[in-house]
Amino acid sequence: MDKKDIKNLALEEFKQELEKISEPSYRAEQIFSWIYKKGIEDFDAMDNLPKSFRNKLAQSFYIGAIKPLKRLKSIDGTEKVLFELSDGNLIETVLICSGKRKTACLSTQAGCKYACAFCASGMNGFKRNLSVSEILSQILYLAYSLKHGMTNFVFMGMGEPFDNYENVSRAVRMMNSPKAMGIAARRITVSTSGIIPGIEKFKELGLQVNLSISLHAANSGLRDKLMSVNKKYSLEELLKACENYISNDGRMLTLEYMVLKDINDSQKDIDDLAKIARRLKAKVNIIPYSNIPGLEFKSPLKKDIEIFKSNLLKKGINVIVRESKGKDIMAACGQLAGTLTS
Ligand code: SAH
Repeated sequence: MDKKDIKNLALEEFKQELEKISEPSYRAEQIFSWIYKKGIEDFDAMDNLPKSFRNKLAQSFYIGAIKPLKRLKSIDGTEKVLFELSDGNLIETVLICSGKRKTACLSTQAGCKYACAFCASGMNGFKRNLSVSEILSQILYLAYSLKHGMTNFVFMGMGEPFDNYENVSRAVRMMNSPKAMGIAARRITVSTSGIIPGIEKFKELGLQVNLSISLHAANSGLRDKLMSVNKKYSLEELLKACENYISNDGRMLTLEYMVLKDINDSQKDIDDLAKIARRLKAKVNIIPYSNIPGLEFKSPLKKDIEIFKSNLLKKGINVIVRESKGKDIMAACGQLAGTLTS
C-alpha cells in the first residue's frame, strides 16, 4: 500500500483514514496538534501516542518534508529560503519584515506556465504544481525551524496559485482551520494574474481571504504584450469576473500595479487605471519594477512613483506603494527563479 502524506489530508479525511486501520478518530486531532501547533514532524516524538500506535501509523502514513538548501538574509531583514522538493525540484519562500508585520511569501508551483515578460519565476518554464503538504511545509519551516512569528501570509511567491487551484484552496483551508494552523482568513492573501475560473471558485469558497489581482496594464493591448494570461482571459472578461467577485457579499479586491518606466506609466495609463479601480471599488498597490538580470525593463525613479501615486490619489483612488524588499538577495516581487544561483 502507498503511504499517505498526512499534510495532504484535511482533518476529516485523516479521521476516515484512521478508521480504515481501525484506530479511533480522536487520534487525528492529537496528531494535527503535534504537526500544526507544535511543529513536530516525527511520530516518535509524539509522546502522548502509544508506541504500538506510532509504529502502526508509520506503516500507513508519513509526514512530507521539503529540504532547505540555502538561506539568504537581506540587509533590510528580508529572508529567503531555497527548498528542494522530494523529486529534486526547487522552490523559494520569502519572509518579509516591516515593523511589526512579518509576512510569509509562499510559492504554489515549481516554475510557472504564464511567463509574464517581467518576471523571473516562469523563465525556466513550468515544472509542476506543489502539493498541499509542500505549501504548508513552507509555513511550518519558517514558524518552527526559523522561529518566526508570522502575522501575514501571501501567495505571491513562485507560480500561479489559481493554476493549482485545488491544492491552494485546500492549503488555505488548512491554514485557516482552528484544528490545524488557525490563521485568521483576513491575514491570508491570494494573488492571481487573472485566471477567471479560479476567481469564480474562490468566491464560492466563502472564506474572508483577501484576493489581489496582478493587473500591471490598464489596456488590453499592453496587457497582451506583458502577460500571456491576457490572451486566454482578456482584460474585459477579467474585469467582469472581478465585478462579479465583489458583488453581493461586500468583498474587496486589491489591484497590483507594477510600474515599468516608460511602458505603463503615462497619464493615459493613470486615467485608465483609475477608471478600473473605481469600477471595481478596489485599492491599488503600486509596486516599482524590481530588476531582473537579462530583461530590458527599467525601474521607475522614486519621484516618478510618488507622482504616479499622487495622480491616483487626486482621482480619489485608495492607493499605497508597496516597497519591494530583499532586492540584494533576489527576493523581491518577481525575482524568485528557484535556482541554486539565484
Ligand atoms: N502568479 C501570481 C502570483 C505571483 S505574485 C500573480 O501573478 O499574481 C508576484 C507579484 O509580483 C505579481 O503581482 C507579479 O506580477 C509581480 N512581479 C513579477 N515580476 C515583477 C518584477 N520584476 N518587479 C515587480 N513585481 C513583479
